This record gives sequence, structure tokens and C-alpha cells, in this order.
Amino acid sequence: MKIDLRSDTLTKPTPEMLEFMMNAEVGDDVYKEDPSVNELERRIATMFGMDSALYFPTGSMTNQAAIKIHTQPGEQLIADAYAHVYNYEGGGVSFNSGVSCKLLSGHRGMITASQVEEAINPPDFYHSPLTTLVCLENTTNKGGGACYDFEEIKNIKKVCDQHGLGFHLDGARLWNAMVANNEDPKSYGEVFDTISVCLSKGLGAPMGSVLVGKQQFMDKAIRVRKILGGGMRQVGYMAAAGIYALNHHIDRMAIDHQRAKELGSQLEKIAVVTSVEPIDTNIVIFKLAEGPLKQRFMEELTEKQIFISDMGQGKLRIVTHLDYSEAHHERFLAFLQKFK
Ligand SMILES: *Cc1c(COP(=O)(O)O)cnc(C)c1O
Repeated sequence: MKIDLRSDTLTKPTPEMLEFMMNAEVGDDVYKEDPSVNELERRIATMFGMDSALYFPTGSMTNQAAIKIHTQPGEQLIADAYAHVYNYEGGGVSFNSGVSCKLLSGHRGMITASQVEEAINPPDFYHSPLTTLVCLENTTNKGGGACYDFEEIKNIKKVCDQHGLGFHLDGARLWNAMVANNEDPKSYGEVFDTISVCLSKGLGAPMGSVLVGKQQFMDKAIRVRKILGGGMRQVGYMAAAGIYALNHHIDRMAIDHQRAKELGSQLEKIAVVTSVEPIDTNIVIFKLAEGPLKQRFMEELTEKQIFISDMGQGKLRIVTHLDYSEAHHERFLAFLQKFK
């Protein structure tokens, strides 16, 4: 029995999801004639109380499209140094938009309103790039699934309004944050100009992300998606997986969070584990003391077919998800309890 906790992107569609996908009504989505895609987009726009939504193949593409829509070449965006848009989208910020990033050292991937305010270049100082966009991430990926305090998001929004900056949320794991903190998508819709959400992580769909936002930005989104090569045809089969996931896979994320916490407490009891980062959602980041015991820990995990990921700098990462079952969890906990 293989237990794969390297990422929550590794899930496969459940039989019920597959069945639902097989029965999807489809059409050519480039003509906007795919009923399943249209339904998914309407659902998400309504959920967030925003004007419109657009289905994309990936979360990198939704983020990159949003950045393109909010900026002009030569401008600068503000983000945390851990941001996915900066670290893990292949340099797309500069490649696609010709924009630079002002990176802030936040706390677990999260920045504050005062940090943002300080990082804005004075618009009349023509020597420096014009600051036009702030990108937040919730939950944070590299920050270990940490969640923003919503009050701080509102404070950052105020700074954006005072300085005329766009406000984008990389919400690849926003579902996890909303489940963990019992938040309403509509509150997010009220503060952000654009939000990207992924269907292919905790929700367990095989692909897809949705960009949702205010009309003035979304008007431009379909052209940018076309330019990036993200216009797809009978993709309603995939959108149907997203609809199924919205109906059945949101609330259950609380189980992923609970299991992550249980793994974390067990890890803290093991001598070779030197630190476990706080666990807010489905990501556990921990460190092991260098030496033979670390090597044995890693070897025994592999022997037991338990896979986790190495993030570099001594950090290891576990991500719980839909395909990590109770049976898997019991086996992993038993391994940790026995490890000496
Ligand atoms: C996974 C992820 C994305 C999007 O990734 P894709 O693989 O392109 O879908 C964006 N932001 C964050 C924080 C992520 O974790």
C-alpha cells in the first residue's frame, strides 16, 4: 500500500467523480458553448459574489493572467518572498508581463499592511518602477499552509485603495483556509479584485483553476487566456469534475486538517525531529537532525512505501489530501509511534 503525501495534487478522481464527468454535457468552450464550463464559472462567481469567472487549465495560468491584466510592462508588484507567483511559475511574472517583484519577508508567507505600505514606490519618483499590484497567497504553500487573519487582509485592501493598487489573491488552497477558519467566500469576493482558486489540489479534480473577479478585469481575462494558450474545447468533462468537487469535497477537508495535526503531534515526540512548524491546514513542514538517524528515518519511510517531499534547506513536507485514507493514516501514525 503506497502512501503518497508529497502533494495534494497527486489525487485521482474518485469513481463517483469519474461517473459524473462521463455524463457531463459539453460543447466548444472557446465559443463559450460548453454548458458544464459555463455552469462551473457561474457557480464560482456566485459563491464569491463576484461579477464573473473563467476556467483555466492551471493555477499558474490564472495567476499569470491576473498579473497581466493588472499591470503594464516595467511596473512592479508586491508579494511575500515565498510567493508561488515568484518562485514556482517559471519566471512568468517577467516573461509574460515584463513586471518585477518587490519581495517582502513576511511571516510564513504572509505580509502585513504596514509592510505593503512601506514597499510602495512613490509614484512621482520616476527612477523606480511604478507599483501597481499586491498579490497575496492564502493558504501559503511555502509557508506551510498558513492562513491569513482576515482583518489583516482588509487592512491591506485599505492600503491598496489609498494607493490605487490592484489586489489579487492566489487562492490555490483558499478552500482549505475557508474550511479551517469557517470563512465565507463572499468576504473574499468583497475585498479582492481577482481571485484564483484551484480545483486540482484539495478538491481532487484532475485539473483546472478558476479566475474570478470584478467585471472590469474579467473583460480582459478571456483574451489573455487565449494568448497564453489556455482556450480549451470540450473541456466540460474536466469542469464537471470541478462541479462534483464543489458539491462533495469541500467540507471533508476538515479531515485532512485533523490528520495533518495528528501527524504533527506524533512527529514532535520523535527524537530525530528537531522542529515542526505550526499546522493550520493540510501541510506539515518539519526538520530532522542531520546524521545517521535521519538517514534511517528516510530509508524506513521509503521501505514502508510512505512518500514525503524534501523542500531543501533541511525542510521536509507532508501534505494530506483526499486519497490519504484512514487506513493510510493509521499505518503512518503506527510507523511514527514505533520509530526509535
Ligand atoms: C499549486 C499552486 C498554484 C498553481 O499551480 P498549478 O500547478 O499551475 O495549477 C498556485 N499557487 C499556489 C500557492 C499553489 O500552491
